[in-house]
Amino acid sequence: EPLFQIEDLHVTAEGHEILKGVDLTVGAGEVHALMGPNGSGKSTLANTLLGSPEYEVTAGRILFKGEDITDWDTDVRGKSGMFLAFQYPQEIAGVSVINFLRQALSARKGIDLSVLELRLSIMEWMERLDMDPSFADRYLNEGFSGGEKKRNEILQMAILEPEVAILDETDSGLDIDALKVVAKGVQEVRRDRPDLGVLAITHYQRLLDHLQPDVVHILVDGRVVDSGGPELAQRLEAEGYDAWKA
Ligand code: ADP
Ligand code: MG
Ligand code: MG
Repeated sequence: EPLFQIEDLHVTAEGHEILKGVDLTVGAGEVHALMGPNGSGKSTLANTLLGSPEYEVTAGRILFKGEDITDWDTDVRGKSGMFLAFQYPQEIAGVSVINFLRQALSARKGIDLSVLELRLSIMEWMERLDMDPSFADRYLNEGFSGGEKKRNEILQMAILEPEVAILDETDSGLDIDALKVVAKGVQEVRRDRPDLGVLAITHYQRLLDHLQPDVVHILVDGRVVDSGGPELAQRLEAEGYDAWKA
């Protein structure tokens, strides 16, 4: 059975139907990118996958490893092995990156690594991801840049060992280095966990150059209007979304 499936998903917010029947399947080991013009419903999909209560699923369903998770709470989704990058608050007063990761790991797996064990594991990951070791002791409320938020997010993904990772690159103002952090993180985590499925929801076309997704989907007006291989990204680069809007 497929790792992760979105079936005929209809989503409403404040009485408006925003997603109008989204179908999308991510198999184990596959990297998918979902692109779409502004207002097409990308953030709505991301928030719905997170289980955000302001978005109401009026039809269709979300399946993870064959189980219908449409009505599951956010934290249960996380515990079950879905990584929702935007699930965790990015700014918590007085909490360091390492302590934050310790809490997140405890919530995900119910195990408490010692600070030393966790530090070793984080140091190893930071080296693989070309991160400065001092980052572990930074505080989450110290005004992280977009790139630092991405580093924190990708470290979380590495440490939490999810089966499917849903990445939401909706932040505007991410520079190319931050996008490379995301792509490199996905690549490194997949080296250890080749079965990881990834859905990257993004408006950054340049992310595709680095992420090299297996499948690209185009979302327009609440529907996936096209899916294909890397050639779709090239067409998008050349023609923009106009080709799909008609
Ligand atoms: P994208 O992320 O692709 O730019 P969004 O999902 O943010 O698109 O928005 C899609 C449409 O849904 C827009 O018209 C937006 O105004 C509307 N929308 C999004 N969230 C809400 C909400 N919470 N309440 C009402 N309308 C919303
Ligand atoms: Mg928007
Ligand atoms: Mg958005």
